[in-house]
This record gives sequence, structure tokens and C-alpha cells, in this order.
Amino acid sequence: MCVPQAPADGILKLSVLSRADSHPAKVDLGVGAYRDNDGNPWVLPVVHEAERRLHSDPNFNHEYLGVGGLPALTSGAQKLIFGKDSPAQGRVYSMQTISGTGANMVAAVFLKQFKEPSDACVYISKPTWGNHRSIFETAGHKVLEYRYCNYETLKLDIDGMLDDMRAAPMGQIFVLHACAHNPTGIDPTEEQWREIAKVMKERGHFPFFDCAYQGFATGDVDSDAYAIRLFVAEGFELLVAQSFAKNMGLYGERTGCLHAVCQSPSVLPQVSSQLNRLSRATISTASAYGAKIAGTVLEDPELYGEWLMSMHDMSKRILAMRWLLKNKLVKLGTPGNWDHVTEQIGMFSFTGLTKKQVEALRTEYHMYMTDDGRISVAGLNTHNVDYVAESIDAVIR
Ligand code: PLP
Repeated sequence: MCVPQAPADGILKLSVLSRADSHPAKVDLGVGAYRDNDGNPWVLPVVHEAERRLHSDPNFNHEYLGVGGLPALTSGAQKLIFGKDSPAQGRVYSMQTISGTGANMVAAVFLKQFKEPSDACVYISKPTWGNHRSIFETAGHKVLEYRYCNYETLKLDIDGMLDDMRAAPMGQIFVLHACAHNPTGIDPTEEQWREIAKVMKERGHFPFFDCAYQGFATGDVDSDAYAIRLFVAEGFELLVAQSFAKNMGLYGERTGCLHAVCQSPSVLPQVSSQLNRLSRATISTASAYGAKIAGTVLEDPELYGEWLMSMHDMSKRILAMRWLLKNKLVKLGTPGNWDHVTEQIGMFSFTGLTKKQVEALRTEYHMYMTDDGRISVAGLNTHNVDYVAESIDAVIR
């Protein structure tokens, strides 16, 4: 066998560098995981409570889950993403996956095997989550990019995006971030989503929504599902990858779902059978522990209400950090306009820092962020935000 070296994964490489740095001033703004104001991971109180309930159940066990995953999770997840009275009801198949990544992968293979025309390409936003290209290429797709971020204004390049959708051949696959776009933190407005849906319908494009941050963009799960629900209301067939890593803090438990919205209930048996087959071939059965936690939270009205409040708290803290960072940069007179820090939403901010500045921040200031200048705002807190702003100021001057 002749095996060439695979390219290094930027985020994983960054985590290794950050872990190896024991400097007391170190700030890790790389990984997209929520941290509390002391920089620690946060186990949501509802997750603790769900675990307590699971362990006090005398029937708790570690048996395999059935085909398709845990019904408490898949049905609750479906309601969460499409809303309670969705016009899609009765024609959606929801299957448990290995978090959002697994949902992306199953979707990618499914689309490669069944999407027509069979030579349809996959279009990803420029930029996008680093794994999208790798996942879709691994599944055998040709991957192209559509314009998304205007790198000068750090705002959405809506004209470029729509032009690229119009220019693409009919019937292509478009990967859309449902909310809190990673890495830019720039989302289309509701009006822009309507334009996107209109153009995609005219061109017969297929929407694949990746939803890894529901609740993180606005703090409200329904507002964050706006785009998906709009496309459903517009009658699209579509796929949604849904992750509970960030919004329930179940990162390593690998809890997620893939939802397939079909044109008619009559095709559900075929679609579900093929998705189940792909799942069986890759993971055999889905992982149980995180699903039981999430299922408990989604099924219990009291826990569900508390979970919504926790999500609101997380998004509020992130927003407060955006304002502290921007205000400090403005106060320092740091060259440039910093409005984008508070205009962008979700976990990430695309700062506009260059690769060279990012490198200087890493080597001279022990501050870790991806080479494209993306910071995870969740890594900021009241103890480090001044240091972060002062360091950014120093490398820019
Ligand atoms: N999709 C996007 C856009 C992401 O940012 C992430 C995680 O960073 C994922 C999917 C997958 O996350 P996970 O597999 O941890 O659920």
C-alpha cells in the first residue's frame, strides 16, 4: 500500500498547540465549545438532572438502541427543528446520527447515491466549516464554492451568493448553515433567506441544511430555525443535519439527528430504509448515552423549559463578550472598524485578522485562534477580554 500523508486538520492542530502551552496568560479562542466566565466547560443543569434520573431508573442499561435511534430523541429533535405544527409532519424521516458530523456524512453518501442528476455537484459557502469539503469529497462528490462573505466589509455577499446560485447548473446541492454560520458568524436576514429560497426554487437546487447551533444565534430556538421552516413551507424536499453538541453541551457524547423531508409520505418507507441501511453499514447502531440525556430533556416540559433558559443564558453571555471586546478595541483606538464583532452572531466572530497577525498572537501573546482569524467568542470572559483586546491592538499597529 502506498499511503500519502493526509493534510493536517487546522482545528485539531490548534488544540494540540494550545494544550501544550502552559503560559498563565494563555487564551484559547480556537475550539467551538461553550465556556463559562472562568473559562471552564459547562455541564447544563438539565443535563445533570437528566443523568440523575437515568441513573436512578432501575431499568437503566447499556443495551443497543434500535434501528433509527432512540425515538424520544428523534421525535423531540424533529419538533425542535420543524416546529410543533409543521406542514412537513407525516413526511419527515428523522434518524439518530453520530452528532452533526455523522449526520453530514450520512447525508453526503445518501445524496451521492440517490440525488438526481447524478452528476450534481455540492456547493459549500466560502468560507465554511472546515469539515464540509472533506466530508462531501470523501463521499465522492465534486465540491465547489459559492460566495458568502465579503472579506472587505465582513458582511454577507448576498449578491455574489445569489449570482452563484443562478449561475450553477439546475439541480445542484447547496450546503446552507441554518443559523450562526461557522466560521463567519454572518447570517442572512429573513428577507435574504426568502430571496435565497426563491432563487434556489427557480434553479431546482437541493437544500442541505447544517444546523449545529440552534439556540446560539438569537438565543431562541424558533427564530434560529427560521430558514429551515421557510424552505419547508416553500415545499422543498430537503435534508437537515442537527447537532446537540453545542446547544445541549453534549459534545463528546455525539448526539445528533438527520432529518429527511420528503415530497410525500408515500416515499418515506424507501427513504427511511436507505438511510437506515447507510447507518447500519457505518455505525451499526447509534450511541445511547447522549441520546437518553437529550431525549429526557426534550420529552419533559419542565426540563425543556429550563434548557431553553440555559441556551438563552449562553447566547447572552457570548453577546456580552462581543460588546466588551468591541468596546475595548474602540477605546484603545485599535485601527479598523470593529462593528462586525457585535453584528455577527452565534459562537464565532470572523475578526478580519490576517494569518500573520494570528501567528503573532499565538507566538507572542499565547492566544489561539484559527488561521482565518476566527475566534470562538465563548472563549472570552471578563478576566481575559482586556488582555485579548490589548494583544489584538498590539499586533495590528
Ligand atoms: N456543522 C458545523 C457548521 C459545525 O460547526 C460543527 C462543529 O463544529 C458540526 C457541523 C459538527 O459538530 P458535531 O459533530 O460535534 O455535532
